[in-house]
Amino acid sequence: MRRLRMLFKNKTASHDAPAGRQDADRSMLRLTYLVAAVFAGMILYEGWFLTIRREDTINNSYNARLDSFAERVVRGKIVSGDGTVLAETLTGADGSETRSYPYGSVFSHVVGYSAMGRTGLENLAHFYLLSSHVNPIEHTLRELMGEKNMGDAVVTTLDPALQQAASDALGNRRGAVVVMDPGTGKVLAMVSKPGFDPNTISENWNSLVSPDNTSGQLLNRAMQGLYPPGSTFKTVILLEYIREHPNDYNEFQFECDGSYEDGDYTIRCYHGNAHGTQNLKEAFANSCNGAFAYLGSGLDAAKLAATAEELLFNCDMPVALPYTGSSFAMEKDADRWERLQTSIGQGKTQITPLHNALLAAAIANGGTLMKPYFIDHIENAGGDRIRSFQPAAYGSLMTAEEAAVLTEMMTEVVTVGTASAVKSELYTAAAKTGSAEFEFGRDTHAWFIGFAPAEAPRLAVSVIVEEGGSGGAAAAPIARRIFDTYFSR
Ligand SMILES: [Zn+2]
Repeated sequence: MRRLRMLFKNKTASHDAPAGRQDADRSMLRLTYLVAAVFAGMILYEGWFLTIRREDTINNSYNARLDSFAERVVRGKIVSGDGTVLAETLTGADGSETRSYPYGSVFSHVVGYSAMGRTGLENLAHFYLLSSHVNPIEHTLRELMGEKNMGDAVVTTLDPALQQAASDALGNRRGAVVVMDPGTGKVLAMVSKPGFDPNTISENWNSLVSPDNTSGQLLNRAMQGLYPPGSTFKTVILLEYIREHPNDYNEFQFECDGSYEDGDYTIRCYHGNAHGTQNLKEAFANSCNGAFAYLGSGLDAAKLAATAEELLFNCDMPVALPYTGSSFAMEKDADRWERLQTSIGQGKTQITPLHNALLAAAIANGGTLMKPYFIDHIENAGGDRIRSFQPAAYGSLMTAEEAAVLTEMMTEVVTVGTASAVKSELYTAAAKTGSAEFEFGRDTHAWFIGFAPAEAPRLAVSVIVEEGGSGGAAAAPIARRIFDTYFSR
């Protein structure tokens, strides 16, 4: 730096130099041009390095260059759209760096951590966080002075108020919540419990990964937790029934006395409740197991499997963070018991909370699934936008007419059925609850999927509470907190 300042000083001095010093001035001028050229070359190299080479160098964690990037750039911030800091690197007086997560465990799985390996957005956005788009002159000067440049900031789609509401509402129970904007695919909240504090991940690592630790704190249940869908799967059965009975599904009728006998098998309604005479809409609203075991076991098994796969069972999910695939495993020649069980979301079918959120979002969005995404845009440290990510459609999971019928049926679940906990004067909602059995003698997992407002949805929500009991009593109130938070502001 001192050297540069001297050069500029000399150049300025040369303007009024007497004729006898022209040779010396000329050589000084040449040197100045040379320095300027080196300067320009360095800037070009920086530009080339940061834009052309960065994806392959930074993304490859085995590449030695990765470390050189971290030596030259302070890892950028992860923030929400309103500027709330979710992760940032604090530099001490001695130059030491600490990655700080102001919200502790609230965002633990989705934001992730960058020590002890990387997870969540810390991993997904790794190369943006270690890229620096500060102004090129400043960038080069800092490098010349041996100082680090500030990495770019990752502006997420996450909504801190919804994330906090979901986390608070789930409390100390095990489970997960996913909140999306069905029209864009923006993931607004993703909570998994139990969580962990990413600020102390290194100190607590041994206990977190210890075989004695059976809480699965590091597992992102929202994307990697597989659960029987329980009665939330009645949306799939309902869709298939409508497809197979396009003209007479409204004429369906079932007499429920609390259990349904089929040969040696018995399917019971929740707590043995007798629902009485049920048409299709009532059977769905009341989540009548007897009616769905009856109508579901009569479906074409091959067509049901095809519908399940159109709805992303046994398929790759259009999502950038690690997930576990959902499975629909009922064979064409499945026995009676498996067909009955599958019809009420039990049996071999398994789904993640994220997948159930995608199904709710697709129904909410007229059948078209928007790809879920977490990063809205990238900014440099000065707040200038570097790159934006746009909503993208994955495709149509069902026709708009089918989505409209499901929406109408799901609205009834809220107004007169099992999801009355989300009935509000602030908004309309459409939903399906579930109480999924997973082990004899243990309480059911409580499910809720739904969206609001029913006629022009802005939020799609999926909730599971492990061993929470009934979906209506344990999961729906969590969705209620999220809807209330969103629609009362
Ligand atoms: Zn019933």
